[in-house]
Amino acid sequence: MSGMNDDVQNILENRKIHSEIRLREHVARIREQFPELVAVEKEIAALTEAQMLLSLDGKTDETIAPRLQGLDKKREEVLRSCGLTQEDFQVKPFCELCKDTGWITVTSESGKESRMPCRCICGILAPTYLEQGGIDRYPEVAFDKANEKFFEGRQAAGNVFLAVKTLTEKLKITNMVLFGPSCTGKTFMAVSAARYYAEHGIPAMVIRMADAQELMMEYRKIVQSFYTVPDKEKAVTSKRNLLVEAELLVLDDLGVEVKTPNSEADLLYILDTRAQMGKKTIITTNYDLASLKERYGGRVYERLSHSFKMYMVPGREG
Ligand SMILES: [Zn+2]
Repeated sequence: MSGMNDDVQNILENRKIHSEIRLREHVARIREQFPELVAVEKEIAALTEAQMLLSLDGKTDETIAPRLQGLDKKREEVLRSCGLTQEDFQVKPFCELCKDTGWITVTSESGKESRMPCRCICGILAPTYLEQGGIDRYPEVAFDKANEKFFEGRQAAGNVFLAVKTLTEKLKITNMVLFGPSCTGKTFMAVSAARYYAEHGIPAMVIRMADAQELMMEYRKIVQSFYTVPDKEKAVTSKRNLLVEAELLVLDDLGVEVKTPNSEADLLYILDTRAQMGKKTIITTNYDLASLKERYGGRVYERLSHSFKMYMVPGREG
């Protein structure tokens, strides 16, 4: 993840440099165009220098300060007559919203302030987040690509879709388990949420539970071994870090993974670490709650029933 932040940092840095260059060019043009301004500025510079030299010798000249004030006024008049303002001499950021910091502060309805990536960098971040988060593997999945007919006659499923969409668009997704038979739109909703986050410059990831388990296993191997191919180590580590740290994680298809001695511990680790950091997780599963309880037993089920909202996504009746 550090590489992509470096990219953004570079872009922001370049924007600042360009803004300063643009300002310098703009001021140079002004000087060329308005010699009367150059003249008064020369007078100000000469007088300021004289004042400094005197003070170095421990002397003062009471007349300098009022003369400088007079010159400053004269400069203002010249500016006005030339149709210029102070703004002509200030750096103009590429992005007025974030002043090229890349961040904006948003205030929620409850008055809570939070920092968000400015939309000027979402465009830079989005492709990387979509790729690294495995979301670009679902190119046709997005809220605005939902087929209206899909939920026809399935009010309950349609309601869940609306709830997920609304929470996502407020960037307030909560931990949730979407459960129900296959092909009901669970993955569509979850991936659409992840896409929305990524496109808004927020790290998100979609991973099938089986692949997450595999990833945790590979990561364990790397940590335990003396040597691994550096590229592979980097790829696995950054993917595993995203799995744990992504603002929104979609764990797709819980329950189809092969059970290994580490299955439960890995899943607990992912859920607990993310919960501690306040990161949100959407789990999709074809299992109903009773089967989940049976399959994962006490601790995992306890986490889910305590801190996850359970949304049943029913299939077509009859
Ligand atoms: Zn901006």
